[in-house]
Amino acid sequence: MIRNSASEMASKLASGDVTSVQLTQAHLDQIAAVDKQVHAFLHIDTEGALAQAAAVDLKRKNGDKLSPLAGVPLALKDVMTQKGIPTTCGSKILEGWRPPYDSTVVANLKKNDIVILGKTNMDEFAMGSSTENSAYGPTHNPWDLSRIPGGSGGGSAAALAAFEAPLAIGTDTGGSIRQPAAVTGTVGVKPTYGGVSRFGLVAFSSSLDQAGPCARTVLDAALLHEAIAGHDPKDSTSINAPVPAVVAAAKAGNVKGMKIGVVKELNGDGYQPGVRKRFEESLELLAAAGAEIVEVSAPNFEYALAAYYLIAPSECSSNLARFDAMRYGLRVGDVEGASAESVMNLTREVGFGREVKRRIILGTYALSSGYYDAYYGSAQKVRTLITQDFNKAFEIADVLVSPTCPTTAFKIGEKADDPLAMYLNDIATIPVNMAGIGGMSLPSGVADEDGLPVGFQIMAPVMKDERMYSVGASLEASLLSKWGAPLLSTIPVLAGSK
Ligand code: GLN
Repeated sequence: MIRNSASEMASKLASGDVTSVQLTQAHLDQIAAVDKQVHAFLHIDTEGALAQAAAVDLKRKNGDKLSPLAGVPLALKDVMTQKGIPTTCGSKILEGWRPPYDSTVVANLKKNDIVILGKTNMDEFAMGSSTENSAYGPTHNPWDLSRIPGGSGGGSAAALAAFEAPLAIGTDTGGSIRQPAAVTGTVGVKPTYGGVSRFGLVAFSSSLDQAGPCARTVLDAALLHEAIAGHDPKDSTSINAPVPAVVAAAKAGNVKGMKIGVVKELNGDGYQPGVRKRFEESLELLAAAGAEIVEVSAPNFEYALAAYYLIAPSECSSNLARFDAMRYGLRVGDVEGASAESVMNLTREVGFGREVKRRIILGTYALSSGYYDAYYGSAQKVRTLITQDFNKAFEIADVLVSPTCPTTAFKIGEKADDPLAMYLNDIATIPVNMAGIGGMSLPSGVADEDGLPVGFQIMAPVMKDERMYSVGASLEASLLSKWGAPLLSTIPVLAGSK
């Protein structure tokens, strides 16, 4: 049962073959069996999840009208507030904090009766590409426990691949939904910026952060997307327009007559041979399904990574100033006679990890007087150039595609001491955030050289998110008929797993 897709689980719930309490319990059992090895979760809300499941079972029994995913369990990235439930953002500084309110995403999940199993591990404040920056220890990739599950949302992606949850929530500032999806053989979508409310999403880089759905199939991602998306007056950057029809697009999966643009700059030197091979094969499948493949160029993407690593640290240095030992979580050095300043300093020294400190220092420097125009100002100009590259490319093509990441999952520890090597993971995902458009990653097979999953990225213009689902569903169907079974059915079975 836990190996079903979320939509299969939803049909079984609707037909009465299973109750939500049984389904939720089966996932809690799987978590108990494998999470010691995977470490996808930071907090498991057994009681809350079972209570939510019992409530939805009762509604169903009473004949209430329920949403499509009602009763299906989900894993929530620990960067989203959920009332009364620990929210750490993978940081010591928030240890013990229980938010007094629900994020809008959580409120929407509850409204749709989606059962929240618990909070998933992540790089501290979503800064990283491997989940090694979590203050609570790394998450392991279920394909190979010695490897990273991607980041920052490695916990959410690993929970899906280890069948601990059929759905998860991620957040993507520079790739943190798509890169973990790619390296775990799962599906992850970063919606258009403003498509899903950021209210209650603990801010890293506010102009880039976006929450989105993580799942094992394109249709499941679409169902979750519709459940969490929509205008929210509590988020001033939320778009006041109808949610794109992503479920209908995922169901149809039609690419006939669509123009698919291959971004020349995102598929060359530095991409692993096995990654490029799976990418080329996927293009052939899309062409066979009736799409026209064209090449597009985006010359300014070259500068995306450099500009991102000015903008994101600048915004984070400002956003993380609120963790001052006065309002939330940890407080260190609060002894008789200690000044507020020394308590703040000590708390931030102890509470933040190395990567977070590195970025606060970088961002504070980039925003300082005399340097602001040279660094932050220039980075913002590059951002405009990247958006213009996208606009031009979308005049030629309906969607753009690339490999999601240059390589498959690397070993835990391999890049831990080399921030630049770590940053390069996001070379193909960052342009999407810079322009505020949508991006999806879905599995396109495993690389010949290491047998590890490879991600295929689809990018669509602002509020045309449904196009990613049309292309994703078409490719997924072609790959499925080629393989005969979903990619995750070939994943090594973890000890204790059913
Ligand atoms: N890996 C990128 C970073 O470290 C992106 C993180 C994210 O999307 N949250 O900033």
